[in-house]
Amino acid sequence: MQTISSYDFKGKRALIRVDFNVPLNENFEITDDTRMRAAVPTIKKIIEGGGSPIIMSHFGRPKNGPEDKYSMRHLVGHLSELLGVEVKLAPDCIGAETKAMADALQPGEVLVLENLRFHKGEEKGDVEFAKQLADNGDCWVNDAFGTAHRAHASTAVIAQFFPNDKMFGYLIESEVESLDKVMKNPQRPLTAIMGGAKVSSKITIIENLLDKVDNLILGGGMKFTFIKAHGGKVGSSICEDDFLETALNIEKLAKEKGVNLYMATDVVAADAFSNDANIKVLPVNEIPDGWMGLDSGPEAIKSFTKVIENSGTILWNGPVGVFEMENFSAGSKAIGTAIVEATKKGAFSLVGGGDSVACVNQFGFADGVSYISTAGGALLEYLEGKTLPGVAAVRGE
Ligand code: AMP
Repeated sequence: MQTISSYDFKGKRALIRVDFNVPLNENFEITDDTRMRAAVPTIKKIIEGGGSPIIMSHFGRPKNGPEDKYSMRHLVGHLSELLGVEVKLAPDCIGAETKAMADALQPGEVLVLENLRFHKGEEKGDVEFAKQLADNGDCWVNDAFGTAHRAHASTAVIAQFFPNDKMFGYLIESEVESLDKVMKNPQRPLTAIMGGAKVSSKITIIENLLDKVDNLILGGGMKFTFIKAHGGKVGSSICEDDFLETALNIEKLAKEKGVNLYMATDVVAADAFSNDANIKVLPVNEIPDGWMGLDSGPEAIKSFTKVIENSGTILWNGPVGVFEMENFSAGSKAIGTAIVEATKKGAFSLVGGGDSVACVNQFGFADGVSYISTAGGALLEYLEGKTLPGVAAVRGE
């Protein structure tokens, strides 16, 4: 398999699939350029290697062909600033005019193709469309982990036109390496902390994790479904009555597979879903009507901390309380602190999934964890044990 570090880009037109789906404000200014900055090392590597980067991405959700609102033209100026070189914009992502611009590129010159989703063939994974995209380049670099779970033309189908000239960019390479450190060859014990609101959205992940982890901490709103399944009183806490059996089944599976399952024994309960509500610490299964559990209690925090600090590998997905409100953020802060401590002692830690990333950033733990995955849907599908088309296509699987 080719790698971005060893591939010879000299004189090559390198088609790079990136994820430049950045948010814009009403004046079409970029409000968060994280995804663009993340792609810079890969683009620069190609420039330094004497190649010509040709950037392709989707951007927003255009419905029927080109829409100025979703034109890549809004991004070109900023990309040029990030790279320190002039960046050209093609009128389309396929077609004669675009191909002529790609062919005319000199080493070090950068071209951005117009939004891939202006063509229906992108999301359909149309082979003919992929072929036309491929005509613009001599090699294909996939650096868009965020769309790796989609078998779109530019993220997977295009691979067939570059049997010997396809590779991951740095971003996707480090995502895949980090995820493999957790899911394929972890230092034991491996602990996963699953939080968030509902168990229903995480069942497949939990089931897949039960085959891999030594310890599973189930926190956040989802634990109340388990507590209720055992006849506990959960008051007005979030609870999914349709999943009581599922919860019991997960517990049974954990037992069969020898996984230590940890859930909070106490909670910080409130009489309203508000930071100004009255609060008290209660046993997790004795929450009266009108009260709801919104964070892990002190006893739970103590036990979670101990498990995390003794782990060799840690995966964190989902806050263990309503961390957006100060009064219910202690549990998630404690999880973050314990992960940072374990990482200092040599554990490998990976945080992923929208809300846990927000949590880690909000509380300043970002520098203390080994890897933060920003991949969203692709990460969740990977954790569910699914094959990601964008990864498999590069690996030739
Ligand atoms: P998810 O998107 O499923 O990871 O859920 C994240 C959300 O779960 C966050 O917005 C948290 O505020 C919320 N959450 C965590 N714990 C609780 C809880 N005990 N009750 C209600 N919501 C919670």
